[in-house]
Amino acid sequence: MIIVLLGAPGAGKGTQADKIHDALSLPIISTGNLLREAIASGSDLGKLAASFMDGGGLVPDELIIDLVKEKLSMPEYNGGCILDGFPRTVQQAEALGKAVDIDVALSIEVPDEVIEERMVGRRTCPKCQTTFHIKSNPPKKEGVCDKCGTTLGIRHDDELEVVDRRLHIYHQLTVHVKEYYRARGTLKEVHGQGTIAATTELVFKALGIEL
Ligand code: AMP
Repeated sequence: MIIVLLGAPGAGKGTQADKIHDALSLPIISTGNLLREAIASGSDLGKLAASFMDGGGLVPDELIIDLVKEKLSMPEYNGGCILDGFPRTVQQAEALGKAVDIDVALSIEVPDEVIEERMVGRRTCPKCQTTFHIKSNPPKKEGVCDKCGTTLGIRHDDELEVVDRRLHIYHQLTVHVKEYYRARGTLKEVHGQGTIAATTELVFKALGIEL
């Protein structure tokens, strides 16, 4: 089964990807995490990606399409996967459609003002990439990752100015990806402005997963 998660940056795709992973044991491919890992490793890909990501822009389609195709060809993804953060443009969706059959594209819908509030309060583990929120999902110990004990940080692209730029890009480009899947009958939409648990319930219902 291949599930595509759509939604604005900060809509909760990563959090819900983890929940689906726990329920279905499907591996996750998160392009944002892959790019951040490439940046942390100091690779050429990372350097190139950083020059686009720093300003809140998207990395070029060819680069990200190659990265995802390479991942999808690995045996661990033979049984399917959850795609988080890809595709973000119609060109990416078309390339993906040529490589694999998508079972469902699930869009998590959250108003911009809720996204802004969420992202400025988000704290991310620089080591294992787990995310927390100072109000709605705080770590057990303030400023420390529950999973690996690393000191949490604020991603540069979670700062308000960058968040607004990313939302603008989302509305301009990624929204057409939704229409791409709607036209193919694979789009499902759920409200994601409630609590994490409430959204998980809607996500599971849409995917036919028993709670
Ligand atoms: P994310 O963690 O999914 O919000 O991604 C963080 C950043 O990585 C985005 O703002 C983009 O700069 C870049 N990125 C992630 N996925 C893609 C994609 N599918 N296409 C282009 N850029 C991406």
